[in-house]
Amino acid sequence: MGKRKKKWNYYRVTFQWIILLLLGYMVVRAWVDPAYFADFEAYCPIGGMQAYSSFLVNNSLACSMTTLQIAMGFALIAGVILFAKLFCSFICPVGTFTEWLGRLGEKWKIRYTITGWADRLLRLLKYALLFITFYFTINSSELFCKQYDPFYAIFTGFGSDVVIWMALLALAVTILGSLFVRQFWCKYLCPLGAATNLFAFTVVFIVITAIYALLIWAFGLSIGWIWYLGALCLAGFLVEAFKQHTCFFPLVKITRHDELCTHCKICDKVCPYNLNISEADKVTHIDCHLCGDCVVKCPEAGALKYNGRKLNWLPPAAIIVLVVAGILISANNQVPTIDQQWGSPEQMKNASIYTQSGLKNVKCFGSSMAFANHIKDVPGILGVQTYVKTKTVKIYFDPSVITTDGIKEAMFTPVKEIIALPGEDVNQIFFLNTGIDHFFDPNDAALLAEIFGSREGIYGFETHYGEPVETTIFYDENKIRPAEIKALIETKEFGIKDGDQTTMVKPGFAVAWVKDSHLASSRQEFLQGLFEPYDRTFNDYETCDSASLATLRIPFPEALEPAKKTMIGFLRNHLMNDKGTVRFSTRWEENNPFLYIYYLPEKTTPENIMLSLKKPKLHITYKSGETEDIDNPFMFPGSATGLIPN
Ligand code: SF4
Ligand code: SF4
Repeated sequence: MGKRKKKWNYYRVTFQWIILLLLGYMVVRAWVDPAYFADFEAYCPIGGMQAYSSFLVNNSLACSMTTLQIAMGFALIAGVILFAKLFCSFICPVGTFTEWLGRLGEKWKIRYTITGWADRLLRLLKYALLFITFYFTINSSELFCKQYDPFYAIFTGFGSDVVIWMALLALAVTILGSLFVRQFWCKYLCPLGAATNLFAFTVVFIVITAIYALLIWAFGLSIGWIWYLGALCLAGFLVEAFKQHTCFFPLVKITRHDELCTHCKICDKVCPYNLNISEADKVTHIDCHLCGDCVVKCPEAGALKYNGRKLNWLPPAAIIVLVVAGILISANNQVPTIDQQWGSPEQMKNASIYTQSGLKNVKCFGSSMAFANHIKDVPGILGVQTYVKTKTVKIYFDPSVITTDGIKEAMFTPVKEIIALPGEDVNQIFFLNTGIDHFFDPNDAALLAEIFGSREGIYGFETHYGEPVETTIFYDENKIRPAEIKALIETKEFGIKDGDQTTMVKPGFAVAWVKDSHLASSRQEFLQGLFEPYDRTFNDYETCDSASLATLRIPFPEALEPAKKTMIGFLRNHLMNDKGTVRFSTRWEENNPFLYIYYLPEKTTPENIMLSLKKPKLHITYKSGETEDIDNPFMFPGSATGLIPN
């Protein structure tokens, strides 16, 4: 047996360290710089594949997903077919970590290589995980793998997307498995490993895809995507379990040249998968990820090559080309978060497109859908695409029905915000009329409220559509001057506090004009002007005979308090648990806000309702069916004034 060369696989080790150092840098920077958001999945190709699958099926993209990830997913597929599973050998941090752990297990002589049928059967696990991960991602439009991915859990510090028990279980299994079993994660658990193997079995993938497409398009059969996914996963497992070898693809393979080989078996030993290289003319095993360790450490120059040629530089060069191509493609192409079209094909063919960027309200899939619903009923608007990464929307419209100005007005949501309640002794409240540029949506209003709340003297503001947006700001002339308000609006950078965390944002507002600042209103006019009535019906209100309803009228001064105003919806949600109540509304009467509760006297009583409203905890039921108990901020000073006859 020959002597093993003490030679490093520099290309691979350099890549692995660069990735680990980059991740370390992101962790440290996120720790010291509150304005920095560490996106640990920005380049994750399996996230991109899941996101694109979700987009194909649902016309929606997972919120945290970007075109960059999708481009990386396609780069990975191209890499697998042309070269090999280079992502696994050169980039994947979990692969690096588990491989190094495995070496420790080897050193301690506790590592075991599973062979035979046990090895073949265990490979089913990763295909099952691949199926489950894609199934839940496509169904929910959110990345399911985040819930258990040990890499994501560690680098985000078990963030809010992570299901802790799943991630801890995955982490424990990965660490212990890697110590005791050769390439445990990559061979048996990694769903990306299963996906890449499927692409490496290129012919199988193409045949199944072609059959599915034929059945759908040529024969018009209605076969759900779940059958296609299931067929791919099952076929991948069966081919891997029974054959374990690839055919024509990937195009690049390790070749052994018998005339130079001394059969020292060093290559077998250094191979992370312990493949039987020393006996093969060409390494076609599905596990080979073209790491090059065998080539670098073979003591006989030229005994191992890439497709018969000395191309040690090929895998790293291929990775660089693929990553750069992915970045360039994503920079020039965007996949929309949602793509909704409700116009007829004829209307869509002749539609014009209006593009608006800077919409902070378009943050995710849910807010994109809310935006689409908001404009869906506007005559002339035919469809919308949203791009959450750039906060941009593309609106399809019929120019003979609506103009771009009309679209802007339809998109705009006027806002009334009380920032601080003026004291009883305040007689006059001044107001300043301004036009604010780069102000588009309710999220801008929320940001402006945060900025105004950071400085004493501003009582509130309201907005009306205009370009720039017409904004009336109510203030105390003894505490703040118009020039200071203008400077406040144009703040370059502002820190938003959320618990211990401060997120720095760049508002970007600009005051285009300011009108007469010496106008004033009374405290009462101000409160009444900025009071926003609230009215919701529930518990089958529509089926109730109005004559059978009783009404409870309760003074509700807390409806004006900025911190409590946002909780009114939760109070209504909590009250819905009393099935005798059917309507919840707030009104301005006798210079004060009042709460009106409509109820069925045969099912509940005013005492029950008051008891429910004053409970220390509000029992909230979300749309998903999940429930939560939250602190009740409402005190209801003064009780119900009594029943009002219908
Ligand atoms: S290819 Fe032959 S000479 Fe090279 S390490 Fe393998 S067995 Fe030894
Ligand atoms: S056969 Fe060679 S290139 Fe393939 S995984 Fe093993 S060591 Fe790496």
